[in-house]
Amino acid sequence: MKVTVLVGGVGGARFLQGVLAALGDGDAASGHEVRAVVNIGDDIWLHGLRVCPDLDTCMYTLGGGIDTGKGWGRADETWSVKAELEAYGADPTWFGLGDRDVATHLVRTRMLRAGYPLSQITEALCRRWSPGVALIPASDDRVETHVVIDDPETGERRAVHFQEWWVRHHAGPTAHGFASVGRDQASACPAALAAIADADVVLLAPSNPVVSIGTIVDVPGLRAALAQAPGPVVGVSPIIGGAAVRGMAEPCLDAIGVEVSAEGVARHYGARAEGGLLDGWLVAEGDTADVPGVAVRSVPLLMSDAEATAAMVREALDVVGLAGV
Ligand code: GDP
Ligand code: CA
Repeated sequence: MKVTVLVGGVGGARFLQGVLAALGDGDAASGHEVRAVVNIGDDIWLHGLRVCPDLDTCMYTLGGGIDTGKGWGRADETWSVKAELEAYGADPTWFGLGDRDVATHLVRTRMLRAGYPLSQITEALCRRWSPGVALIPASDDRVETHVVIDDPETGERRAVHFQEWWVRHHAGPTAHGFASVGRDQASACPAALAAIADADVVLLAPSNPVVSIGTIVDVPGLRAALAQAPGPVVGVSPIIGGAAVRGMAEPCLDAIGVEVSAEGVARHYGARAEGGLLDGWLVAEGDTADVPGVAVRSVPLLMSDAEATAAMVREALDVVGLAGV
């Protein structure tokens, strides 16, 4: 079976572990193929290095290199580079680049400067990690999420890079809106379009609906590809009992006027039959969602381990009549 999954960072990576577990690790011997279309909206230039947090979180998590406690960054990380940059007063000091992590960004940046597209660079980086999933950036072009906030120091309304809002300000200042900078000139990565066009099923991970899944589907070409996908599209709710499980989906949904509920997110995504994204939608036990045209099922949605997540993935396939895995 060919399964394509739209993912952000931490939530997306965990979901991918469950997809692999459900498909017998998705290796060649299993006869399955798993591809992930990964959010690039969090990507940022820092100290001359190109940093792609969601791609790296997926790569390190699936490749066994992640700091499992934090859920992002490298295991056994050290922070000499960060301390030295701070000693120079080199801004920004609020984003921690770990020493091991820096090597990834150095390789990526060098290849970008040599003219390689991000998708090929990611493939090259993944040769070391063998994540078991093809990690495909949503676009080879630069598309960066910016957030409109009232500057905590000056009070002036301005747009800051998503990372500045998230990492520096811990999403404290109210987000008045989001902008995908570069989106209008960008196009979807051809491999991402191909992964959707020949998938037996497309899954939307329970990733942030605004700044992960929302950013991906807004890359020109991707929404149309999903509309025309031959296989069904099934989403998993990141909202359980009216709250995000972890992360900051709530202020993001508030900013775009979407109710923080499993039904609110499903209605925001919309039924594919009505020009939206979904054929199926999984909500947590105790939650409901009434969205005409979408097959909804209530199942345990906590990704406590790969097996629990695999059970969720099997339900996602079953709700649209795909069985046999
Ligand atoms: P980020 O890029 O690291 O912020 O990660 P993602 O966008 O991939 O995922 C963040 C989202 O995952 C948050 O909105 C959470 O609500 C959701 N999430 C995290 N853990 C779980 C879980 O165990 N179950 C479900 N259903 N959602 C989860
Ligand atoms: Ca992210």
